[in-house]
Parts: sequence; structure tokens; C-alpha cells
Amino acid sequence: MSMKCEYCWLGVYGDLIRETENWKIYLAPNQMYLGTCVVVLKRSSRNLMDLKRGEWFDFVEIVKKLEFGLKRAFNPTLFNWSCFKNAAYRNNPPNPEIHWHFIRATK
Ligand SMILES: [Zn+2]
Repeated sequence: MSMKCEYCWLGVYGDLIRETENWKIYLAPNQMYLGTCVVVLKRSSRNLMDLKRGEWFDFVEIVKKLEFGLKRAFNPTLFNWSCFKNAAYRNNPPNPEIHWHFIRATK
């Protein structure tokens, strides 16, 4: 089990709950904030600038669905989307996997 990033609890993404053409959506193991998800690009890519248009379009639809769903369920104040790659670059050669952490927050 390799450490994907310091925000991936126990180094795993969690349980796969949905899949689109370009992304996999996991329910994160850490559910301190219910609904926390990890959205992982299916293909290997080092940087966000390398994402293709179709992958961004696909991602936007995921953002809409997840935010809408959690807004209905929990009515949070805001949503955080973060993309970290530090841990992947501690390996040589670095092997980052582009993935987003989606966490709702309430004031
Ligand atoms: Zn992570």
C-alpha cells in the first residue's frame, strides 16, 4: 500500500462508489466530515496543465453532482477541493496520481 498523499488517510482512497469516463470517485475512509470523497483521474498524469478538455468537462459534472448532493444532505457553508502532490514527489522517480479531495465545511 503506497502513500498517495498526506491527506489520503492510511494511504488509500477509500471505497469506489462511482466511475465516469475519466475519473473514479471514492468515499474516503476518513468520514469525520460525512460525504468526504476523493476523485481520482483514471490515467496517469503529472500535472493539472496536462489534463485534456474532456477530462475537465467530465470533472465539472462531478463537482456539480457532489456539491449538489451534499448541499441537499448537509447544507454546508462551503466546499473545499484540494489537489496535493507533495508525498508522491518524495519517491524517486515521483509517480503522482492526480486526485482531488472533496470536503464539505461548516462554519
Ligand atoms: Zn490524497
